[in-house]
Amino acid sequence: MRVLVINSGSSSLKYQVRDTDTNEVAASGLIDRIGEGAGGPADHGEAMDLVAAALEGELVQKPLDAVGHRVVHGGERFSEPVRINNEITRAIERLNPLAPLHNPANVLGIRAITAKWPDMPQVAVFDTAFHRTLPEHAWRYAVPDSLYRQYGIRRYGFHGTSHEFVTGRAAELMGVPLTDFNAVVAHLGNGVSLTAIQGGASVDTSMGFTPLEGLVMGTRSGDIDPSILIFLQRQGMSADEIDTLLNRESGLKGLFGDNDMRAIVDAAAAGNSKARVALDIASYRLAKYIGGYHVAVGGAHALVFTAGIGENSADFRALVASRLGALGVKLDGEANLVRSGGPRVVSAPDSAIPVLVVPTDEEQAIAEATAAVVQRSA
Ligand code: AMP
Repeated sequence: MRVLVINSGSSSLKYQVRDTDTNEVAASGLIDRIGEGAGGPADHGEAMDLVAAALEGELVQKPLDAVGHRVVHGGERFSEPVRINNEITRAIERLNPLAPLHNPANVLGIRAITAKWPDMPQVAVFDTAFHRTLPEHAWRYAVPDSLYRQYGIRRYGFHGTSHEFVTGRAAELMGVPLTDFNAVVAHLGNGVSLTAIQGGASVDTSMGFTPLEGLVMGTRSGDIDPSILIFLQRQGMSADEIDTLLNRESGLKGLFGDNDMRAIVDAAAAGNSKARVALDIASYRLAKYIGGYHVAVGGAHALVFTAGIGENSADFRALVASRLGALGVKLDGEANLVRSGGPRVVSAPDSAIPVLVVPTDEEQAIAEATAAVVQRSA
């Protein structure tokens, strides 16, 4: 099946055409600066026109069978990918307040496709869906129940498409049936999240009500004492200013000044103390969470690294592993340095927990999920 995968952000639209039979990427691209003037597309409709124009030659040769959308927030309703119709689009729109930066753009992407190709089957694949198996003790905050009932304030978790894909590949690599597979999966990109996998399902994850909770990220603070927000507000900062501070100016960028892991590792090696401290905080906090999730799953069969940093930064993996001595984790120095696009083991044979690197491919996962839903509903 030929699937156009759409990942719309507030001002950008990433796309890929995937052949789900051969797993070939037939075309891909990025339209950015949507709605920012300066000659960029005025809205997501215009951006879709640009995508269609870019794909024209490709689509004449072989038309599309379906479009799959990455949708960030599926709320409590969506626990799996769904075929989109008007009611589903409105239901996704009703979740806008829970993901104000993301879901409105996803809805615009869906509406742009509907306007352009009204008969095209469309499927929504949700970032939150894989975490719908979290037990209540993992998803509830210790705040009055009314906050949950009135506003839906609870932990949802994100990066689910990536965690699910990587978990499946890791179980395969380990030769363990998915339903018996326990693991701790670390998605370390610009966004960072850790998921506790028990019997192939997500039983805890570090992102919560929004993707701000949890670990130190490229520009996000992760966990901090909530009183800091109240303190800053009393110092005169507005809600928007605090939002920007914690989402865009914190994390590695806030600590070091740049969120590119390569720059941080190089600077630390050259003796830059801010870079050293940033690496120490990020790796220390990650190691603590890994220890916690190893307990949560009753003993992980594997620790799995994925995404930009997890797949590519041997230095950061080594730093995290060096803090996991109490779990008996030992990397193989040489295997950890191998650069490869494939899933691989990077731990020493006598490591108490095997450590894997499994490249993620959210577009492949979305294309496969889309094809499965369309085939089922055909
Ligand atoms: P992602 O969000 O998955 O695209 O990951 C982005 C992060 O991966 C950034 O912090 C990059 O610095 C990091 N990254 C990408 N390539 C490398 C590399 N070769 N070595 C270290 N970090 C990398």
